[in-house]
Amino acid sequence: MKHLRLMVAAAAATVIGSLFLAVPANAQDVAPVSAQELAPAAEDPWNGQIFLTFDDGPGGSYTDEILAVLEENDAKATFFQLGVNANRDPAGSRAVLAAGHALGNHTWNHPDLTTLTRARIDSQINKTQNLLESYGAEVNCFRPPYGATNTKVNNRIAAAGLQRQMWNVDTKDWTRPGVDAIVDVLLGATPGDVVLMHDGGGDRSQTVEALEIALPQLAAKGYKFGISPKCSPA
Ligand SMILES: [Zn+2]
Repeated sequence: MKHLRLMVAAAAATVIGSLFLAVPANAQDVAPVSAQELAPAAEDPWNGQIFLTFDDGPGGSYTDEILAVLEENDAKATFFQLGVNANRDPAGSRAVLAAGHALGNHTWNHPDLTTLTRARIDSQINKTQNLLESYGAEVNCFRPPYGATNTKVNNRIAAAGLQRQMWNVDTKDWTRPGVDAIVDVLLGATPGDVVLMHDGGGDRSQTVEALEIALPQLAAKGYKFGISPKCSPA
């Protein structure tokens, strides 16, 4: 009996000993993880924000559905609208603005600006700019259709007082590659990324569905969704 008690005591001592040993080991494990969690935030000039962008709208019900998903996820984004669509659907532009998102200029009817004369480039930019501003938008940024640009185009963008906003993450959603393919690209985004999607120009149901899946997962990583700094109203 005494022997058993000794064995129990010894076992307890071993457990307690390992607990004490475990404390410094755990402390060592915890400290570097905390440092890793703090370091990116401290060094992240984007404050954890991913910049979602939607081109070619307003796109009717798809724009409405995207606005709903963004709201569900406390997300803000930038919509690069076409003048021709915004002119046809003023409510689509106004709904984006009313929800606190930014509008960007994406030309009147989506030409490759590198093929146009200086005067026609100016017309594409200014006609769209005037329309969006007539809806009450402060439009600070411009995205050339197809990303097609050159020195002449860049100069006309600057002459209009706009900042060019390209992208670095392309979901290729306009090709309708399947919801999973769009989700995969979205889940690879990290703070500072400018993500290209579309709310206009065709059936965007895959885009809507992919956002419904990906945004909560990105938010669970601690990421936020904001308006691109070049496009943010003052
Ligand atoms: Zn476009």
